[in-house]
Amino acid sequence: MKKKILLTLFSLNVTFCAYSQQATSEIQMQSPSNPGKYQQNPSETYWSGTIEGLNKPGQEDPGVAVQVQQTLSIIKPDAVKKNHVGEIIARFEKSGLRIAAIKMTKLTKEQAGTFYQVHKDRPFYPALVEFMTSDPVVIMVLEGKQAVTKNREIMGATDPAKASPGTLRADFAESVTRNAVHGSDSPETAKEEINFFFKANEIFK
Ligand code: UDP
Ligand code: MG
Repeated sequence: MKKKILLTLFSLNVTFCAYSQQATSEIQMQSPSNPGKYQQNPSETYWSGTIEGLNKPGQEDPGVAVQVQQTLSIIKPDAVKKNHVGEIIARFEKSGLRIAAIKMTKLTKEQAGTFYQVHKDRPFYPALVEFMTSDPVVIMVLEGKQAVTKNREIMGATDPAKASPGTLRADFAESVTRNAVHGSDSPETAKEEINFFFKANEIFK
C-alpha cells in the first residue's frame, strides 16, 4: 500500500515537472512586440513557430497548434518586366499570406549565382543566372500559416506547361526558365534564403 502511494506521488511529480518545463518554454517564446507563441531569433531574420487557437471550425483537434512560417518569394524579371507585380502580390494577399518584407532590386551575377548555387552543375545554370540578372526582381518575405507549402501551391509547377490552371506559373510564366516566380522549397531553405536577402530590421511584424 505504502509503495503504491509513493509510486503515485512520484508519477504526479514527474507530470508536474514536465508541465512546468513546457510552460517555461512557451513563456520564453513570447516577446513584447509579438504576443503569439513564437519568436524571432535575434541573431537571424527568419522565424517560425506556432499560434494556438487558429484551427478552422470543424477541425478534429482545435487544440493543435498551427504552423506559422515565413518563406522567400521572388517575382522574377520576366513577370516584373510584363507589369505583373501587383497581380502576383494580390494573389498572395488574397490567399492569406502577409508581406513581412519587400524590396525591388537588380541582382548581380554574384548574388544570382550564389542564390542558385545548388543548381551550379545543372546545364540550365548559366542561362538561369543570366535571366535572373537581366532585369529587376521583387523580393519578399511572405508570412502565414504553412507559408512555404502555400506559396508553392500558389506558384504551381516549375514548368508552366505542367502547372495547374490558376497558378501563377500557369498564368504568367513564359518557359521553364522564365517562370515568373521563385519560392523556397522547405522551411530550412526559407531560413537561408531570407537571411541571404534581408536584415532583421527589414522584416516587419
Ligand atoms: N530551371 C530551368 N530549367 C530546368 C529546371 C529549372 O531553367 O530544367 C530554372 C527555373 O527558373 C527554376 C529554377 O531553375 O525556377 C530553380 O529550379 P528548381 O528545380 O529549384 O525549381 P523551382 O523550385 O523554382 O520550382
Ligand atoms: Mg527550387
